[in-house]
Amino acid sequence: MNVLPEWELMAPESIDEVRALRAHHPGSRFLGGGTDLVVNLRRGIGDPPAALIDISRVAEMKGISVDGERLRVGAGVTIRELADDPRVRAGFPGLAAAARSIAGPTHRHMGTVGGNLCLDTRCIYYNQSEWWRAANRYCLKYGGEICHVAPKSRVCYATFSGDLAPALAILDAAEVEVAGVEGARTLPLESLHTGDGERYLALEPDELVVAVRARRPAALRTGYDKVRVRRSIDYPLAGVAAGVVREGDRLTDLRLAFTGTNPRPLRLRGTEALCGGPLDDAGMERLSGLVRRQVMAMRTTFTSGHYRRHAAGVLARRLVRRLFDGV
Ligand code: SF4
Repeated sequence: MNVLPEWELMAPESIDEVRALRAHHPGSRFLGGGTDLVVNLRRGIGDPPAALIDISRVAEMKGISVDGERLRVGAGVTIRELADDPRVRAGFPGLAAAARSIAGPTHRHMGTVGGNLCLDTRCIYYNQSEWWRAANRYCLKYGGEICHVAPKSRVCYATFSGDLAPALAILDAAEVEVAGVEGARTLPLESLHTGDGERYLALEPDELVVAVRARRPAALRTGYDKVRVRRSIDYPLAGVAAGVVREGDRLTDLRLAFTGTNPRPLRLRGTEALCGGPLDDAGMERLSGLVRRQVMAMRTTFTSGHYRRHAAGVLARRLVRRLFDGV
């Protein structure tokens, strides 16, 4: 790990102040909990910023509000605050479970909702020390000209590993509020991540996520589960968020989203074909087929892509069954 360079640290308290500071310091970076950014900087990943804008005191980025089935979470809310909020636990159990599953307690104490949504994509050829990456001639994502995972590719397949995005993606009207030097805008959560592991966020360099909003369909039962090498702390090798509506013995709504497998959070397509009848073995087999076709885990972790894709399917089937049965 490198010694951190010296930089100017600024601590604005409003979005207007953030905009003004960013306009005057175009080489600056935003600092939330620092659990992703600081580690990357110590590994020499990314150009060292001339200044850091600490956004942890920005008023518009604080607080959780729940209004019936509507939820708004400030990007500066810590993972622990989200996981512990009784309104979130009661109304959005899948989101609370995803938050509880993130990293370890100290990371959840510092890490923020915005940081997890904007988590840098990961790969065993990227999350390494400077000397290790230099010895391997770097790679497309930062500083090099080749992808070691797919040498003929001109695209980076580094994996998105944030846990909150899939848990939010299965809700309705999931949107992020974004602010930048030029003003504010709202974009659908599914548009926040590009699917390119290198330029993985659809944000301009001077933009940041201020908050995320979503709405929960009244009857939707939600949950979250994942596998990781060290259950106490690691990033997901595969993670799944599921939402199920059951009417009598019929499955009438099914939503799934994955993390830890593709370069962006993956909302599984085609699940409506499984709805309308009971959740039987044939339906589960069709669910497995959807996962096999859409989950695209590459060799970006020490665990094989084949294992992660298989694990994603197993997690999905177990979680959907558990939610459908209400246990
Ligand atoms: Fe680098 Fe390829 Fe890994 Fe992307 S997928 S980080 S380009 S080795």
